[in-house]
Amino acid sequence: MERCVGIDLGTTNSVMAWVGPDDRPEIIPNADGYAYTPSVVAFEDDAVLVGRIARSQAALNPERTIFSIKRRIGEDGYRVRINGAAYSPQEISALILKRLKADAEAYIGGEIERAVVTAPAYFNATQRAATREAAEIAGLQIDRILDEPTAAAMAYKLHEQDRLTILVFDLGGGTLDISVLKLHKGRFSVIATSGDNELGGDDFDQRMMQLLAGKFENRHGVDLLACDAVTAQRLREAAEEAKRQLSFKDSTRVSVPFIVPEKALSLDFDIVRADFEKAAIDLFDRLRAPLLDALDHAKLKPVDIDEVLLSGGSTRIPRVRNVLADVFGMEALSTINPDECVAMGAAAAANWGTTKITFKASRSVGVEVAGGSFSSVIQRGATLPPVAVESYTTAHEGQTAISFPIYQGEDTIAQRNLLLGEIVIDDIEPGPAGKAQVDVAFEMTSEGILKASAKDVATGTQVSVEIESAVMTEDEKAFATQRVAEMAAKIE
Ligand code: AMP
Repeated sequence: MERCVGIDLGTTNSVMAWVGPDDRPEIIPNADGYAYTPSVVAFEDDAVLVGRIARSQAALNPERTIFSIKRRIGEDGYRVRINGAAYSPQEISALILKRLKADAEAYIGGEIERAVVTAPAYFNATQRAATREAAEIAGLQIDRILDEPTAAAMAYKLHEQDRLTILVFDLGGGTLDISVLKLHKGRFSVIATSGDNELGGDDFDQRMMQLLAGKFENRHGVDLLACDAVTAQRLREAAEEAKRQLSFKDSTRVSVPFIVPEKALSLDFDIVRADFEKAAIDLFDRLRAPLLDALDHAKLKPVDIDEVLLSGGSTRIPRVRNVLADVFGMEALSTINPDECVAMGAAAAANWGTTKITFKASRSVGVEVAGGSFSSVIQRGATLPPVAVESYTTAHEGQTAISFPIYQGEDTIAQRNLLLGEIVIDDIEPGPAGKAQVDVAFEMTSEGILKASAKDVATGTQVSVEIESAVMTEDEKAFATQRVAEMAAKIE
């Protein structure tokens, strides 16, 4: 049987799931036995480390340890420089995916060739293409790049309902992503997204570190935050653990033996949830504005939301749930582990096929028109695959050609959006400005391929381009595949 897994390729952690022999999605533990693998890659002289082992040696090897590569995926020209070589974000992501693939194969006991990989709803065509390239470099054929909130909703089997409006609240390690989905007859569409790129579990860790360091300084007169990288790392790990514990308990004990070894000082005290909540009160307050923004974009009120879904490990924090209960007047769905539901939904999608989901353009696509402004042809939120046509005309007398640079984004100034390509139509019959009519048609497939054509209505001349939304050339991809395969042999 050909096996297809679901992969939540996260900024902080990655999770895999599959539909196992009992026909239900289940998490695939990694080789260390954990449900999640830190999305961290580290290079040593002769080895490549991926996952927990890479994360735990980070303080000793900061220059050669790579965190949060997902934030860079699709970024033009971005390279990680290590040991004299330059790696694209696709290659670093591919190393993570190789490790996941190998662990899953060991667990399942067979080869895995296909996967559904998830991406944030707001990812543009380039970020999606780069994600796909990362998977291909890792030797995985990608069935689909699935929106994370859609995956979360599928994990809850919400697609079995007829009509629902769902808000997915995803608070992970580094970011807050909010999506509003409409479900109609088993079809999902993302109608609005919002969030905060700089708010996540790491910020809560930071507050806990400050709280612990403050207490320590009061007792021992030593500022742990001014100590070396290794001390900072030990403090961070203790802070994260305390934060996790306080999601389930009112108080917890934090102890790090000999955190200042030269003075034989240990960190050892109890910390209560209320103190943590006070230390992070402004962070909890910051959750509200993006929520209201998402509702505003979707032209909805809190009462219009039928279900609130939790995704991301940080939604385990009780105070986060309180904020949501306060805004929506109901409890969020939380029967599936919030850090696992995206992978579970991806596994379900991998197994159930593509027929039940429609895609929406998460960004508008259009052309630059005279004066540099952006004229959108496919509106953000349009159902895919739509064919959209807009008519344009010449700006000057005697003009015989029009070029349409194609952009994706929401800015009214074309060049502030992402340039995807260009379509040029010439041989227009010379005439006064505004006489010719050129119809520009765009079609976007669910795979993110944009088919654009321009037609001179008077002569019937038509030119078309297909924008593959690829980031790498075939040569670059082949080189990366070879290099990643060699490095993968050294993964520990
Ligand atoms: P994710 O990106 O979804 O894997 O989320 C990772 C973040 O969730 C990290 O910042 C974790 O510290 C945080 N997290 C995981 N479990 C808990 C918990 N029980 N309480 C609070 N935060 C948690």
